[in-house]
Amino acid sequence: MEPRTIQIHDSEFSTYIFEEEIIARITMLAEQIDKDYADKQPLFLAVLNGSFMFVSDLLKRVSIPCEVSFIRLSSYQDMHSTGKVKEILGLTEDIFGRHVVILEDIVDTGHTVHGLLQQLKEKSPASVEVATLLMKPDCLQHDMKIKYVARSIPNDFVVGYGLDYNGLGRNLRDVYSIVS
Ligand code: 5GP
Ligand code: MG
Ligand code: MG
Repeated sequence: MEPRTIQIHDSEFSTYIFEEEIIARITMLAEQIDKDYADKQPLFLAVLNGSFMFVSDLLKRVSIPCEVSFIRLSSYQDMHSTGKVKEILGLTEDIFGRHVVILEDIVDTGHTVHGLLQQLKEKSPASVEVATLLMKPDCLQHDMKIKYVARSIPNDFVVGYGLDYNGLGRNLRDVYSIVS
C-alpha cells in the first residue's frame, strides 16, 4: 500500500493503519463478541463522536441479537487529554441487569473509560466490558482491563476512521499518525 501524507491544521500526518487491516481486526473482534455474548443480548453503548465508523463496521459483523445506543461524553481537547470526565449524555436505556459493552474509538490515559465505567456500574448492570478500536497501552493510568482491543498503538497522536484533530479528519478511511 502506498503511504500517503496529509496536512490537517498545523500538522502533518501519514498513513499508519490501512482500512484493510482495520477491517480484518474488527472482524476478529466481532467473532469474539459473538461467542462471548451468544445468549446475553448485549447492549452496545457507543461513545460519540469518535466511535462512529468503528461501531458501524463492528456491529454489521456481529450476528447475535443485540441493541445499540449512542452516548456522548467529551473530555479531550486538542492533542492532550484533560483527564476530566463529564456526565453521560443521551443514556436513555435502563441498564439494570443488562450486559453492557462500551464501544470507544481509543483508550489513551483511560480517564474517560474509567470515569464512564464508574458511572455505569452505579446503575447495576449485569456486566460491563469495553471494546475499543485503538489502545495506547503505554499511556494507561488506571488499573483496568480492556477486554476487546482491535489494535494497540504507540504513544503517538492519530486521526482518521472516526478520530479527529480539532474537528477534522474523522472522514478518513485509514488511520493516520502524526509526523510533525
Ligand atoms: P483518555 O481519557 O483515555 O486519555 O482519552 C480518551 C479520548 O481521548 C478518546 O476517546 C479520544 O477522543 C481522545 N484521544 C486519545 N488519544 C487520541 C489520539 O491519538 N487521537 C485522537 N484523535 N483522539 C485521541
Ligand atoms: Mg472516545
Ligand atoms: Mg477528539
